[in-house]
Amino acid sequence: MPRSDLKGTLASAYSSDEEPKYVSLSPNGMSEMWAVGGVAFMIPAVPPDASLELQFALRARRNALPTGQCEECGAFFDPKTTDAVRGVGIAGAYVPHRANCAASDEAAEPLYVNYISDHSDQTVPEALDAASRRTREQLDSNMRFRTELSVEIYEDWAQELLDRNLDRDVVAVCDHLGANVAQTWNMLLGYNRWYCDECWEYLAFDVARGRFATSMIEEFTCDYCRRYVSTLQLLVVRVGNFVLRGGMCRRCSAKSNPANTGQDVNSGGRDV
Ligand SMILES: [Zn+2]
Ligand SMILES: [Zn+2]
Ligand SMILES: [Zn+2]
Repeated sequence: MPRSDLKGTLASAYSSDEEPKYVSLSPNGMSEMWAVGGVAFMIPAVPPDASLELQFALRARRNALPTGQCEECGAFFDPKTTDAVRGVGIAGAYVPHRANCAASDEAAEPLYVNYISDHSDQTVPEALDAASRRTREQLDSNMRFRTELSVEIYEDWAQELLDRNLDRDVVAVCDHLGANVAQTWNMLLGYNRWYCDECWEYLAFDVARGRFATSMIEEFTCDYCRRYVSTLQLLVVRVGNFVLRGGMCRRCSAKSNPANTGQDVNSGGRDV
């Protein structure tokens, strides 16, 4: 495709007002394909335990490509054609970030190289331990006013709830969790799908914008005994690197938490 045609195609995709849509994850889990206005883009995935600087750089790069402009440095997209690879010509866009932009190659590449070298000799048990620790730290900072329980009876209770929600015949997982299990798994109970932190953020955004259809029945169903009730108490359970969020009836709440007298309390987190 001549460069001028390519520029026109990209410009019309960017001005189509279509929301970029996630299409798929590369087999190595390092990049994602997104589509907007009939054009596909490959953008970097954010690894689960990237440093804050690397997360920032990658998110800026992720936002710039499907929108055509970098919010950090203001750079606009440029069309790019490469020589045919195995007989297939590839056309695309790149955003020439300014040298002082966090998303520029100069700034982002060394961070990525460090990330890869820090993680290359990590064993699977080490990676899972690290994921569990990160998940705990994340909840600690987000839920400072929670009830923390670590009694044995409660651990069994929480483990049973988790086991029920790990049945692969019933639940789905996002592609990122499929590619790398050693990260935080997030579930909204009742909706049978696990999300990585990145996908969980997108879900929260969709819920806030009314794009994720929640069912009224599910909204008033206890996530433990599945009874339909008028009031539910907030339930947040962490087991290792798994976090389940939902609502629980007073009866189940009183049973699972010896400190709970069955009074209606509209919040409370659980941590095993
Ligand atoms: Zn930039
Ligand atoms: Zn994901
Ligand atoms: Zn219940």
